[in-house]
Amino acid sequence: MLSNFTYVRPKSLEEAFKQLSSGGAKVHAGGTDLLGCLRDHVFEASKVVSLSNIQSLHGIRKTSQGGMGIGALTTLREVAGNSEIKKHYAALAQAASEVASPQLRNQGTLGGNLCQKPRCWYYRGDFHCLRKGGEECFAVAGENAYHCIFGGESCYIVHPSDTAPALGALGAQMTIRGPKGKRSVALESFYVPPAEDYTKETRLEAGEIVTEIVLPPPAERLRSSYRKVRARQSWDFALSGIALAFVFKGDQVQKARVFLSGVAPVPWRCREVEEAVIGKRLDEGTVRKAAESAVQKAKPLEQNAYKIPLLRGLIEEQLLAIAR
Ligand SMILES: Cc1cc2nc3c(=O)[nH]c(=O)nc-3n(C[C@H](O)[C@H](O)[C@H](O)COP(=O)(O)OP(=O)(O)OC[C@H]3O[C@@H](n4cnc5c(N)ncnc54)[C@H](O)[C@@H]3O)c2cc1C
Repeated sequence: MLSNFTYVRPKSLEEAFKQLSSGGAKVHAGGTDLLGCLRDHVFEASKVVSLSNIQSLHGIRKTSQGGMGIGALTTLREVAGNSEIKKHYAALAQAASEVASPQLRNQGTLGGNLCQKPRCWYYRGDFHCLRKGGEECFAVAGENAYHCIFGGESCYIVHPSDTAPALGALGAQMTIRGPKGKRSVALESFYVPPAEDYTKETRLEAGEIVTEIVLPPPAERLRSSYRKVRARQSWDFALSGIALAFVFKGDQVQKARVFLSGVAPVPWRCREVEEAVIGKRLDEGTVRKAAESAVQKAKPLEQNAYKIPLLRGLIEEQLLAIAR
């Protein structure tokens, strides 16, 4: 059952910051993750501050630099269907279209997708786990088939968002506003790995809001893609996924950014694949070596070693697909 809270719908950011300054206030975008967390008592809120009436947070615009700015309250359906995003930033459109179900994409926002809480069943369940201030990560000796194989120090969650790895590969910046002003953080640095602080997921400070996600101008001959593998084809979180953003010169890869989903507590930059493909044609030998190098440092738990061949195969398939 939900605990009682007050609900406010400010019309401006300034008003929202004022409302958020009281302890126990939480940001509400589409609510598809927030309400589940409150219902399951992952955390409590004495006040819920809806952003839906703040018009400046909605919509997609071209930036003066030739990139795109996506308001944090833009729905995933709008992101997936936008013709400019499909044309120039295919990885993002593909990732947004792979999130959950049509109903959730209609309601869920890009900002909410990037700030959603981890999906670990211990964290979400009645377990006082490390991330909730307890003494241990129950996944280590428990049910860990869906947990991470990279970057799992002390806490073994996987990052749940599909759009975050795509935005990481595309070099996006997050615009963050709060009572102390405005700042811009690369998506790549926005997430906090457990080795640094296992009680935090993002670098948002108290009272701050993600207002916009800014994509750089698309390079000429940029090709990007996102694909995830899941247990059920209808809708599900990624068991593993890969976002690629490659700039080609002829048939050689000139620049590469690669981010993985479903395998680490943060969107996982895979420099091994980047290094293995830069300056190369994506022939079968290069692709095989790249995929092999990606999994060398994997540290599976008892039940999730299947993610290693799964990821290797996915990387091979996606590298060959982007070369065509
Ligand atoms: C059944 C189910 C299946 C799902 N499957 C997938 C999937 O396959 N892939 C995937 O990526 N996701 C999946 N999700 C997660 C879903 O995409 C998220 O719930 C949704 O994107 C969150 O967006 P929202 O606008 O509803 O956020 P909310 O629920 O409103 O907010 C989520 C969190 O982010 C914070 N927040 C929201 N907006 C901002 C902002 N602008 N600034 C600062 N903080 C903010 C809130 O305080 C809250 O903690 C699934 C969810 C469900 C329920």
